[in-house]
Amino acid sequence: MTTSLPFTRNLSSNPATPERVAEVLANPGFGTHFTDHMVTVRWDSERGWHDATVEPYGPVTLEPATSVLHYGQAIFEGLKAYRQPDGSVASFRPQQNAARFQRSARRLAIPELDEEIFLRSLEELIAVDHRWVPAQEGESLYLRPFTISTEASLGVNRPANRYLYSLIASPAGSYFAGGVKPVSVWLSTDYTRAAPGGTGFVKCAGNYAASFVAQAQAVEQGCDQVVWLDATEHRWVEEMGGMNLFFVFGSGENAHIVTPELTGTLLPGVTRDSLITLCRDFGYPVTERKISTEEWEKAATSGELTEVFACGTAAVITPVGRVRHAGGEFDVGGGDPGEVTMRLRGELIGIQTGTHPDPHGWMRPL
Ligand code: PMP
Repeated sequence: MTTSLPFTRNLSSNPATPERVAEVLANPGFGTHFTDHMVTVRWDSERGWHDATVEPYGPVTLEPATSVLHYGQAIFEGLKAYRQPDGSVASFRPQQNAARFQRSARRLAIPELDEEIFLRSLEELIAVDHRWVPAQEGESLYLRPFTISTEASLGVNRPANRYLYSLIASPAGSYFAGGVKPVSVWLSTDYTRAAPGGTGFVKCAGNYAASFVAQAQAVEQGCDQVVWLDATEHRWVEEMGGMNLFFVFGSGENAHIVTPELTGTLLPGVTRDSLITLCRDFGYPVTERKISTEEWEKAATSGELTEVFACGTAAVITPVGRVRHAGGEFDVGGGDPGEVTMRLRGELIGIQTGTHPDPHGWMRPL
């Protein structure tokens, strides 16, 4: 790919030994080990995006007055690189992440990064760090692009005048080493994630900072994950932690699927969009509409609602087996992973790992 912005390579003089890479890949976990390199690109108002560099992974030095540390102009993305059967490396719909990153930038008054620089940064990092892409089933290299404001100024009446874009990468183990286990969820009415006009539809750091207390409350309530409801009526289901939700009504030929509509307060997941397409490929009707907690409980109890699952880049598809709220609890579909859930999961993972055909051209070689 050609881009007007040249990338300079300043390679690590001290890369991990092959033994160390093998040791990390034998037990990658999630988000604690990083590859040898990172990409950085700077922005200022005179030069725009400039100084694109592939350099050794390492600390970023910031003055204490740096605006991101005070006012939180910080956005990020999350996507994965998958080892393909022929040994090459490919990512899943990275243009979607590039576009969402631009929407996040606009909402946080951060300069937008061109799609071509975003995609080129992925290619540049994989070119030097491809040995860190795991090959075991369910494993991948998690890619984390982010932008922060770097102006050293406490002025709060305008956005910063300098920014740093960076891309780092971390080998990710299989979320499902112990099989696909349904999670339990807590319907949060004490905390909300996003309000109309706010930042719920983008990936800014503050959304996640504000979510930890609600996730901790879910755990106190004996649940694995928090489910967010709308901020005004505490009634409409939005999403689960960092994943979007799908509801399967009926079964077999008669299954039809509902997912909360994009109201501006939930994140438009790349996985959500892809699954809507796969559902339609399979012939399941899909409706994007509001779904209330009362409907969820009533339909689960009557048996009309047969499966619920959450989806996102990190954990792909996770079934939801049990729901708790301030007034009680109920199970969905007997608590086991359902047929539609497992079928969609198998298809998505097959496309990502190159074992199934890719009719929509979603995979992009890196
Ligand atoms: N909702 C939230 C709040 C998230 O952080 C994520 C992860 N990006 C998702 C949903 C799922 O999005 P995706 O499928 O693009 O990973």
